[in-house]
Amino acid sequence: MSGRITFVGAGPGAVDLITLRGAAALDEADLVIYAGSLVNEKLLERAAKAELVNSAKLSLNEVLERMVSGFRSGKRVVRLHTGDPAIYGAVSEQYRELDRLGIPYDVVPGVSSVFAAAAELKVELTMPELSQSVILTRAEGRTPVPEREAIEVLAAHGATMCLYLSVGEMERLVERLRAGGLPPETPAAVVYRASWPNQKIVRGVLADIAAKVADAGIKRQALIVVGRVLERDGALSKLYDDSFATGYRNAGGSAAFPGRVGVFALTAAGAHKAAEIAAGLEDAEIVLPGKYADLAPAPRLVCYPDGEFSEAFARGWNEYDGLVMVMASGIVVRHVAKLCRAKGSDPAVVVCDAAGNYAVSLLSGHLGGANRLAAAVARITGGRPVITTATDNCGLMAFDELAARHGYRVANPELLKTFSAEMLDGEKFDLAIPQELFERYYAGNPQFRFAGDTPEITIRSTHSGHVLRLVPRRYALGIGCRRGASADSIDALSSRILKERNLCWEAIAVVASAELKREEPGLLAFAQSHRIALRFFRADELNAVDVPNPSAAALAHLGIRSVSEAAALLAAGPGSRLVVEKTAAECVTVALAEVLNG
Ligand code: SAH
Repeated sequence: MSGRITFVGAGPGAVDLITLRGAAALDEADLVIYAGSLVNEKLLERAAKAELVNSAKLSLNEVLERMVSGFRSGKRVVRLHTGDPAIYGAVSEQYRELDRLGIPYDVVPGVSSVFAAAAELKVELTMPELSQSVILTRAEGRTPVPEREAIEVLAAHGATMCLYLSVGEMERLVERLRAGGLPPETPAAVVYRASWPNQKIVRGVLADIAAKVADAGIKRQALIVVGRVLERDGALSKLYDDSFATGYRNAGGSAAFPGRVGVFALTAAGAHKAAEIAAGLEDAEIVLPGKYADLAPAPRLVCYPDGEFSEAFARGWNEYDGLVMVMASGIVVRHVAKLCRAKGSDPAVVVCDAAGNYAVSLLSGHLGGANRLAAAVARITGGRPVITTATDNCGLMAFDELAARHGYRVANPELLKTFSAEMLDGEKFDLAIPQELFERYYAGNPQFRFAGDTPEITIRSTHSGHVLRLVPRRYALGIGCRRGASADSIDALSSRILKERNLCWEAIAVVASAELKREEPGLLAFAQSHRIALRFFRADELNAVDVPNPSAAALAHLGIRSVSEAAALLAAGPGSRLVVEKTAAECVTVALAEVLNG
């Protein structure tokens, strides 16, 4: 008598995220060989009569032996894999061996962790205009990754990227994504143990995600999602720019709310959300009833006796500049009603639901900064700020959001904070901006005046007189250089070319060269000094590009027909054109391509 072998995808962890077919196979199983710590043991309870074997402790051969002998003695064998077996399931070796032995088997698919993560993030991985492709991949570990699938190469597509097995080396991963051309403000999220009770979500941008993941203590069992599909309408996203080259800034957005904040909650779920919010703000305490005293570490947690919420709220009203209330708005309204006095002195009050979907600016929106506090809270939870003050409600587009969406770089990011605050406070701005963008976001709102149709955006605050500059990143600089060429010589020629075209360094999105220049110190130093991302292309990629000035010498010497022109065109992407053909100085060649579809 012979048995049956069924490979089953267990799903990401939650017991009800297995398929009905997979569950039925478990129900009937005599032997279950399950894959280690990411399979929920509760699922195994289904297999009441089965022998259970954890394959984490077995070699491939031992797993196969168990399966085969089970099969031969008539057992119904389930080989239970996390997520879906087809993704990093190491099933191919098992299939091959069973095929060789002529043993039949079935495969039941499962919900891969990528889909559990997307569900938890509430994100569509394929969004019109942002990305219509999803790349499932991993960073190199013990298992090598083919060179053509290197992170840099895949990142260059700009498609949504989902990375398994890669959270252990976040910093290196971010470097490689950046080297592939993704800007520092590209949104990124990490979901640890998606669908498990101890799931954690960390959201950020490439500039800060590694630090946030380290802070959260996540080292494994997490899925990373990178891409603009993670942008959320309405949430005021912060543009991380050059300031991040010098270090990690708390991205909680508390900079937008200057003051002490008390974050209150009344339920266990609310308390967890309150802890998440408080952790993202610069100066915040969690305020909870005594029964939740164990939920958060002491210095940031203040407890009051159970049942004394009214008293605690009244104390908080006087003590804090802002109150974030993770609870139903009705509770908050009743308590605020008893205490509120004057616009100038009442604290900011923000109400947030326990899931973090909404942060409602309830009281003191402008003067007290509740609008800014709501935006900060929404940024932390990944939810939406709900702003009801008149000017803000016209659908304001924050300037940093504008820059991030349309590929501009903020030349003076230190102004962003006050500009956002002023915008939320209803101040007026004069904008010199491409007319199409003005019409899309600012026309019809008296807060904004059109000051001219210009490619570079300059925004003048009529309140402070300061001018914020957003410079389009629209060019790729292709560089060829001899071995040992100095950063100064590359700089001199590049500066001359930019000057001739009347361009500033901010307009350069990327510097590109040939793969074999990856370690060239002068080139690296040059890109570093201007803080511009570098990309490298292989000889076969470069040789596939049609260029006006191929060089016979380079072909003979390097096997490459053109470095500067081809690299510039490749880095600028499809639809780009050369605006400066190869220009040579002593040991450097430079070409400039314009991104036309950006
Ligand atoms: N076959 C599995 C992947 C196995 S490889 C699937 O389809 O999901 C193991 C990796 O999967 C982990 O390092 C992690 O990156 C990811 N992973 C598995 N379960 C996860 C979960 N519940 N939450 C987040 N990531 C998970």
